[in-house]
Amino acid sequence: MILVSNITGNLAAVRQSVARAALAAGRKPEDVTIVAVSKNHTVDEIRAALAAGVTHLGENRVQEAAAKHAELGAAGLTWHLIGSLQTNKAKQALAFADLIHSVDRPELAFELHRQAERLGRSIDCLIQVNTSLEDSKHGFTAEGTLPFLREAGRWGSLRIVGLMTMAPPIDDPEQARPYFRQLRQLAEQAADLPGVQMRWLSMGMSGDYEAAIMEGANLVRIGTAIFGPRAYPA
Ligand SMILES: *Cc1c(COP(=O)(O)O)cnc(C)c1O
Repeated sequence: MILVSNITGNLAAVRQSVARAALAAGRKPEDVTIVAVSKNHTVDEIRAALAAGVTHLGENRVQEAAAKHAELGAAGLTWHLIGSLQTNKAKQALAFADLIHSVDRPELAFELHRQAERLGRSIDCLIQVNTSLEDSKHGFTAEGTLPFLREAGRWGSLRIVGLMTMAPPIDDPEQARPYFRQLRQLAEQAADLPGVQMRWLSMGMSGDYEAAIMEGANLVRIGTAIFGPRAYPA
């Protein structure tokens, strides 16, 4: 059974916390965009979130996202791909994604550019930075990010519009702040590079989005706090 009222209530609570964190950071609540991360949740659950006003959806896997996109369409919705993407699925990602958060290596970036160019279009993406240097996390190192941006800024069909990171899983969100701060500082350093825009800082998930907003996040990726726990299929 889908507890539609829970999703509506959860979303209201998340919006309130986002607004509180934004104001505490001296920013406007509407400057922070909430991406509702619907991976492993059903189309009916997503519909409940849409009814409650969600307009940005985040998905991890290309196949799942494409299927949901086919059912729900693109009208009034912005589709975010936030999970790691195999290079050979770049073309499939282009078919539905409005913004790809998880560009974590040069080969993927170049393939997205190449496929978009073939279609005579561009693709908006964020460069994923591995701020915590955990082996399990994908992404560019902080040191590797600026040199890469200098090069990729010339790939005309790849529109780099910001950076993304994930903090390591820690109990106290305050301890995540240095990772978020590092991403913001990188974006500040990259702001004047030709061919890139640092419009978006995608950081913060259910457990740490308030800390991320305090450090400058304007795109937060929130799953569990909106949809409840995910039932991972085996
Ligand atoms: C699943 C996921 C999220 C959302 O995680 P929650 O803790 O459920 O909010 C955010 N970002 C990425 C990259 C994810 O894979």
